[in-house]
Amino acid sequence: MIEALILLKEMQFLDSKIIRIKTLIENTPAVVNGYDRSFKDSQEERQKKNADLDKALRQKREFELSASEKSEKIKKLRAKSSDIKTNKEYQLHLKEVEQLEKEVRLIEDDILIVMEQIEEFEKTSTAVNKKFEIEQSKYNEAVSAAKKEQSEGEKELDELLKQRSELAKHIPKEPYNKYMHILERKNALAVVAAKAELCQGCFLNMPPQLYAEVMKGEKINTCPQCGRILYYEPDPH
Ligand SMILES: [Zn+2]
Repeated sequence: MIEALILLKEMQFLDSKIIRIKTLIENTPAVVNGYDRSFKDSQEERQKKNADLDKALRQKREFELSASEKSEKIKKLRAKSSDIKTNKEYQLHLKEVEQLEKEVRLIEDDILIVMEQIEEFEKTSTAVNKKFEIEQSKYNEAVSAAKKEQSEGEKELDELLKQRSELAKHIPKEPYNKYMHILERKNALAVVAAKAELCQGCFLNMPPQLYAEVMKGEKINTCPQCGRILYYEPDPH
């Protein structure tokens, strides 16, 4: 095999790695973004459930306050009952007390209802908070793994680019340009094996004469269908 072809094979090997790592680095923000979104959903769910609970607790306190204000009023009214002179005044007094007592009972019913809600909301809140904690640690792990992979990729990429520019120095201009042209056009795969008379890039069944030339490897041959540079790889079967 001529040296240029050997070097182009090496170049293809490096470029495949470079493209894979570049894609990984480029995709990292989108990957992290995806984690952010699902984590945000979990955060919002948690906030909503905790807000439901807070609201119910606040409502319970308001009801209790209102009930105790009314009970206080009843007490004061009763304390003054000995001052009442006329029957008419007494009837009015009784009516007022009864009305307040009725209101207190209604509020107490409301308190029971809200307490049931609180019990329900507390269960939900506990479950959601637990789920949130799990999500949070999964999120932290996933994000730091993605970022670690990115920074390691950047280091590896630097190293590969150095190797690549060193290798490029040794490849004659014409085959190199041809390689680059195919690489850009063929989406990252410019040098492929010819195996069992098939181009491994497009699986064209190659004309026998071309296959024979590729086997010799004395010049740069390209596939007549996909245009990729071919090298011979013995068929293990
Ligand atoms: Zn082909």
